[in-house]
Amino acid sequence: MARVEYTDWTVPVAQVGSRPGQTMELNKEFPAPSGIGDSYVGVTQGAPVQVDGRFDSIVDGLIFMGTLTAPMHAVCARCDDTIDEDLHCQVTAFFPYESGRLAEMNGGSRDGDGRDGRDGRGSKGRKSKKEQEVEIVAGEEESEDLYPLLDNGAFADMEALIRDTFVDALPLQPLCRPDCKGLCPQCGEDLNENPEHHHEKVDTRFAGLAALKAQLKAEE
Ligand SMILES: [Zn+2]
Ligand SMILES: [Zn+2]
Repeated sequence: MARVEYTDWTVPVAQVGSRPGQTMELNKEFPAPSGIGDSYVGVTQGAPVQVDGRFDSIVDGLIFMGTLTAPMHAVCARCDDTIDEDLHCQVTAFFPYESGRLAEMNGGSRDGDGRDGRDGRGSKGRKSKKEQEVEIVAGEEESEDLYPLLDNGAFADMEALIRDTFVDALPLQPLCRPDCKGLCPQCGEDLNENPEHHHEKVDTRFAGLAALKAQLKAEE
């Protein structure tokens, strides 16, 4: 059996996993794992991620439902302003007891120093045959993802859940505000600060005529 690796993201859940119908609240701050976005838009590694929710045990695993909150940094796609705001995400995740399959699908990264083996790819798409049953039990469709339990169900590993959640939540086009006017395409003036800013439009078709007119006037 693979050596269990305890990290900043392992949560003891043995008490809730003992039998179906148990509940355990989780209100805890975790460090943001690596691999959430980049310097342009992302959650900085080690930034505080607040997790508030609960585990409920069902027959074949644990359901976690709750809210994840993390500070996002970004650069406005229109005006280059820096953006600092909290991302709030509702999550529903399933931690199946049959986690051997998950370990296999993780490419054995749980052996040795798994942190090096994790490269930011989420757990999306790791669907098992259990999925359909899970959806029936939880009454949810599509929004569920599978995450690992360690040590025969004694610990839930929250790292991939936190990473996947915020990777999905990052805006493709971050804006400092929905109606950001951006920068003047000609000179870079910030149009939010200076909404009246504009340039006199010079129609190049008449530029030659204007030059001729100026020349004639000079010769008078
Ligand atoms: Zn902006
Ligand atoms: Zn301008």
